[in-house]
Amino acid sequence: MKRRIVPTLVAASVACVLAGAVNAAGVLAPDEDEGDLVPTGKGWGQRAYPNHPNGNGNGNGQAGHGSSKGSGINYHGGPVILGTTNVYYIWYGNWSGNTATSILTDLASNIGGSGYYNINTTYYDGSNRHVTNAVHYAGSTTDSYSQGTSLSDSQIQTVVSSAINSSRVPKDTNGVYFVLTSSDVTASSGFCTQYCGWHTHGTIGGSDIKYAFVGNPDRCPSSCEAQTTSPNGNPGADGMASIVSHELEEAVTDPDLNAWFDRSGQENADKCAWTFGTTSSAGNGSQFNVSLGSRNYLIQRNWVNSGNGFCSMSF
Ligand SMILES: [Zn+2]
Repeated sequence: MKRRIVPTLVAASVACVLAGAVNAAGVLAPDEDEGDLVPTGKGWGQRAYPNHPNGNGNGNGQAGHGSSKGSGINYHGGPVILGTTNVYYIWYGNWSGNTATSILTDLASNIGGSGYYNINTTYYDGSNRHVTNAVHYAGSTTDSYSQGTSLSDSQIQTVVSSAINSSRVPKDTNGVYFVLTSSDVTASSGFCTQYCGWHTHGTIGGSDIKYAFVGNPDRCPSSCEAQTTSPNGNPGADGMASIVSHELEEAVTDPDLNAWFDRSGQENADKCAWTFGTTSSAGNGSQFNVSLGSRNYLIQRNWVNSGNGFCSMSF
């Protein structure tokens, strides 16, 4: 999930620096429209190959690659997560006394079955098997700074593999593992400057494991928090609720980064990032747009893969 672009002088200058930039990994900003891109999981696309041969000469009507007609998002042949998706949390750093553990556990426990998450059922695989509106909060573990306070992408995978290999969480190919970092921790590939969270997959113990990084946006409210007074009285955790929802939706519909995304490499949630639709005021003056379980949240909309496609809070 890309960081929020806020209309302040500081943020605008950062955005200018980033716009159209190509980094060492060949990553293109999404407005660099030079043909079809594939997802990075971080909210922008990159070239798959110099001549992206998967985009040319198919002609057999499969996968819909290269087409931007229809619902605005295309299927590229890879798997989606079918059946119940299991959410695991890895609380990295120091979360003692922080209500985030309750706020985000409640989110994962109640997002399944909601009208909001039902949007994900508009996605399907090559055998027309649809994503189901079922999410199970399957457990958590903690990690007290085993990789320090500035995590590289590979160290984040190590946090996940260590938790699985030590049986602190089970190895589950229907799982999405979230590495949730406290506000004294950053991710060195660009937390707060380029993204607020991301998802990807990796081989752990011989299995294809899906995982995500979500940092605490109290570290950079102007980049990664929609509001600094929040429905559950914890702006960092409430900010994370939107990012967790975003990454979960993408991890289920594009778990291996080869299923559902558009020509810019944007996955379903990317297309609606930082948009919230109609909001209501909570008692403390904050805004919310959905109630899940006993809590209100302000979480971003998701892309409905039906008709011409659109961002919505329910389907
Ligand atoms: Zn995203």
